[in-house]
Amino acid sequence: MRTVYVNGSYLPETEATVSIFDRGFLMSDGVYEVTSVLDGKLIDFDGHAVRLQRSLDELQMKHPSSKDDLLEVHRELIRRNEITDGMIYLQVTRGNPGDRDFAFPPEETAPTVVLFTQSKPGMADSPMAQTGMKIISIEDQRWGRRDIKTVQLLYPSMGKMMAKAAGADDAWMVEDGHVTEGTSNNAYIVKGNTIVTRHLGHEILHGITRAAVLRFAREAQMKVEERSFTIAEAQEADEAFITSASTFVMPVVEIDGEAVGEGTPGPVAKRLREIYIDESRKAAV
Ligand code: PMP
Repeated sequence: MRTVYVNGSYLPETEATVSIFDRGFLMSDGVYEVTSVLDGKLIDFDGHAVRLQRSLDELQMKHPSSKDDLLEVHRELIRRNEITDGMIYLQVTRGNPGDRDFAFPPEETAPTVVLFTQSKPGMADSPMAQTGMKIISIEDQRWGRRDIKTVQLLYPSMGKMMAKAAGADDAWMVEDGHVTEGTSNNAYIVKGNTIVTRHLGHEILHGITRAAVLRFAREAQMKVEERSFTIAEAQEADEAFITSASTFVMPVVEIDGEAVGEGTPGPVAKRLREIYIDESRKAAV
């Protein structure tokens, strides 16, 4: 049985509880982060901690604890659950005001903090990296502040189910004719030596993996264009891929039934995946 963390205590997962009045439960009034673990160490912890702070600030939510304290909780959960490869999920909500009310609760209301581990042995050797993913496109029907990592995940969850029903692995969301991002990842295409991915803004989550991968791509003398693109442009690209903390870099080989490039994982996606995993292991804490 897993040991999880809730509001300062380490407990067996069956004994960890949160109030029915919690703002996260009633209003999706919460933010989260997912940090990967490889070889028992955290990948890009700093990036996730900085983004958490930003999400909290944007929603005028209290910071539950310092970055160092959070790091210690992550490490303690890795130790207690003997995680080699996997993820640490962290969620902070606006807490439990003791009743339901649209107005934000009083200042002194303590945030709710929950962390738990997900063990994924051999996560860096996912078979999907060899075959590539098939994706479909769907309309982006999420709210307008996707740069804040909130727990409002109903539409992305529906998107995954639409993909599944269509025999695909995931969906890319489209707004005003242009791809925003994947249901839980950032989206990229490759044409020649150029990598194209949507520019940052309120329309997409500012992926921690995205920032690292673009840095590595530039260091490897690839050209990076941060701009939006259409599904038609993606279908005609040489390659496509996604990035996220839990999938790293994952090739996309089919979009709405059309093969991308040769219909197999391309060299750029493969290389970036290798570089990202190697460099992340080296810098892990
Ligand atoms: N976009 C969305 C909508 C996501 O949910 C995620 C993963 N949480 C990402 C992008 C990728 O972000 P990261 O690389 O920080 O995991």
